[in-house]
Amino acid sequence: MGVRVLKFGGTSVATKQTRELVIHHIERELKEGHQLVVVVSAMGRSGDPYATDTLLSLASEEGGELPSREKDLLMGCGEIISAVVLCGALQARSIPAVALTGGGAGILTSSQFGEARIEEIRTDRMKHHLDQGEVVVVTGFQGQDSRGDLTTLGRGGSDTSATALGAALQAQIVDIYTDVNGILTADPRIVKDAKPLTVVGYAEICNMARLGAKVIHPRAVEIAQQARIPLRVRSTFSDEEGTLVTDLPTALSLAAPLKDRHVTGIAHVQGVTQISVRAVEGIGDTQLKVFQSMARHHISVDLINVTLAGALYTVMDADADKAVRVLRDLGFEPETVSGCAKVSVIGGGMHRVPGVMARIVEALAEQGIPILQSADSNTTIWVLVREEHMGNALRALHAKFELHL
Ligand code: ADP
Ligand code: ASP
Ligand code: MG
Repeated sequence: MGVRVLKFGGTSVATKQTRELVIHHIERELKEGHQLVVVVSAMGRSGDPYATDTLLSLASEEGGELPSREKDLLMGCGEIISAVVLCGALQARSIPAVALTGGGAGILTSSQFGEARIEEIRTDRMKHHLDQGEVVVVTGFQGQDSRGDLTTLGRGGSDTSATALGAALQAQIVDIYTDVNGILTADPRIVKDAKPLTVVGYAEICNMARLGAKVIHPRAVEIAQQARIPLRVRSTFSDEEGTLVTDLPTALSLAAPLKDRHVTGIAHVQGVTQISVRAVEGIGDTQLKVFQSMARHHISVDLINVTLAGALYTVMDADADKAVRVLRDLGFEPETVSGCAKVSVIGGGMHRVPGVMARIVEALAEQGIPILQSADSNTTIWVLVREEHMGNALRALHAKFELHL
């Protein structure tokens, strides 16, 4: 029947009760005759004893900043605990299983601790265990570099582990099990009537993930797309099939209503600062100086708007003080608005459709929400609003484009 990869996120493996549900999904797949690689995240969320953020806080309590290599070693513990506990629970039910670290499963990466790139996956060890009839439980988020050091793949990287393993094993499907019923039209924590999308194209979901939809890591979607492996995002807490992410022709053929949909979903990123720099007489080539200096200081810039009068752009709040210092040192007097949110209206179907921006402006104006800045592409319109307006903005846009229907 072929290999399937099942990935369970932090809330899915958090407690004995939720792990029972995980095992229920594993048993169902085994009954159907599939060979299984199960990828797990660290248990629970921030504050839970073995969650990634909790482990990190242990080190920060000691003061100072851990070197990135040691930080990866520390973070890697969360997934190891999770994999071993789940493996034990399977064995206790007489389901043959083995737990492997990322390195043990053959995931070889660069040495860029904290953001390592997968360079190669050696599948022999996993295939050996699968051929023995064992469920292979792999720690998500982890790899190993050429020196044998444990590396991590970036926060939320267990999704990436899952699709990369799926690609290497030419899996039939990669199932990402989480705490929501699939990829929804917006974050359900903010938009209560957000609706699961049944089938969508890789590119659109990758875009949505990059723009803040934290339900799946964008790199995971890219890998699935390159390997042409179907990806499903579904809930551990139900038997519903969730969202199928696949290539666009398949998505279109499976979901006729997609054809008429202009907007697919709305995503958001908080903690953004808007910076405006006025071109100053005597300071030649303002544009060049501003952006070269941001690049030199590794400050990533977004929503860039360059005119003869100067430059308007955004950085993450965490980089704002540094950006301002750098600009002042160059002789500029930047103005900043911190605590903003970037709200993105995303839809492959909005290309050449008139009136989408008008509806966005209308939705926000009806709520009295000022737009601080905007930009657009073929498939996305971004608006910058103050963080205190973000929830209302998301809900108003969701309603305006009737995404709840
Ligand atoms: P896991 O630990 O399973 O990886 P995450 O917390 O990483 O779970 O992702 C699931 C969460 O993503 C949901 O609880 C939800 O609040 C959030 N989320 C943000 N945007 C979306 C969206 N468009 N659709 C579904 N969930 C979303
Ligand atoms: N545990 C890791 C994190 O919190 C990886 C993951 O959950 O995907 O970022
Ligand atoms: Mg996640």
